[in-house]
Amino acid sequence: MTQLLRYRRVVVKLGTSVLTAGTDRLHRPRMVELVRQIAALRSLGGEPILVTSGAVLAGWEQLAFPPRKRNVPEKQLFAAIGQGRLMHLYAQLADIYGLPVAQTLLTRDDLRDRRRYLNARNTLLGCLARGVLPIVNENDVVAVDEIKVGDNDTLSALVAGLVEAELLVICTDRPGLFNADPNLDPDAELIADVPVIDEAIWALAGDAGSHRGTGGMRTKIQAADLATRTGINVVIAAGDEPDVVLRAARGEPIGTRLHARGTRLEARKRWIMAETVRLSRVVIDDGAARALISEGRSLLPTGIVAVEGMFDRGQTIRIFNRDGLELARGLTQYRAADLVLLQGRHSSQIEETLGYTYGPEAVHRDDMVLLR
Ligand code: GLU
Repeated sequence: MTQLLRYRRVVVKLGTSVLTAGTDRLHRPRMVELVRQIAALRSLGGEPILVTSGAVLAGWEQLAFPPRKRNVPEKQLFAAIGQGRLMHLYAQLADIYGLPVAQTLLTRDDLRDRRRYLNARNTLLGCLARGVLPIVNENDVVAVDEIKVGDNDTLSALVAGLVEAELLVICTDRPGLFNADPNLDPDAELIADVPVIDEAIWALAGDAGSHRGTGGMRTKIQAADLATRTGINVVIAAGDEPDVVLRAARGEPIGTRLHARGTRLEARKRWIMAETVRLSRVVIDDGAARALISEGRSLLPTGIVAVEGMFDRGQTIRIFNRDGLELARGLTQYRAADLVLLQGRHSSQIEETLGYTYGPEAVHRDDMVLLR
């Protein structure tokens, strides 16, 4: 327990089959044990984020297990009933360890739309900065096919990318990925290490799932593929393995480990650059240029001398010096019309100028890619 963490920012994904421990209801002893580990991770200096399923099941449990139709309206209804109960349970369990929790319900649109992406990211990072455990689930009640992530394995990989996690731990009802189906082949062996997800790994992923959760091993490999491509390490392991979360965070061998490709920083830079508003142009004065380039600071409205183009909060804009040299690109906290009003002003005047504020920075340094 006293051993140092190898990974600090860790997304832990708990599927329904883990939360029920093979029964038909949320298994409180199992849940308290997992929450204990997450709280321990936090007190060791880690920054855990929980992605959890179980809302639909909690709703079904609350209604005393009526026969299930398993259609979309029923799932949404059960999720509406169950999500609050699920959160209540987590809040109570986390309370034992003095760990405050925050509910975050997301749909795919929240991660695709850059304004919402920024809001979700700021909220989750804000929770981490204040020692709060964010608990994420899909917003099943409003999610229709077009905006649904669909399974929490994929959601956990998207969330890991959103917060630039170092590690994603997908807890499931199996010890990891096997080289053959362990239900059919008694000689099947656990694959401890996957340096790259190649054809052979996809072939092993199959498509079978356990009956209680949404995702089988295939969605876990898909999620791992997504996460590792954004520079995040992944462990797929059994939720009932003793200290699974802590051991994974310490970098001990457990379950199946899939290795990050490239760095998180490169992936984030790629993401920031990917959708630059071509005609955006924010010109900054020499002091601001120095602060950005030499001191690695954020861009504040006071350093802005001109704003051109149409862009929205959360979009990637281009930042120039007075000589017309492009210095940087970054996600703007304010839309173009707001920056026009804010340019040259001190950050303390943002609220009185706009009637609201998204914070003192026009572009935060963590959301910026320097080009010089
Ligand atoms: N969001 C669903 C729930 O909370 C679960 C989806 C999944 O397990 O992939 O019940």
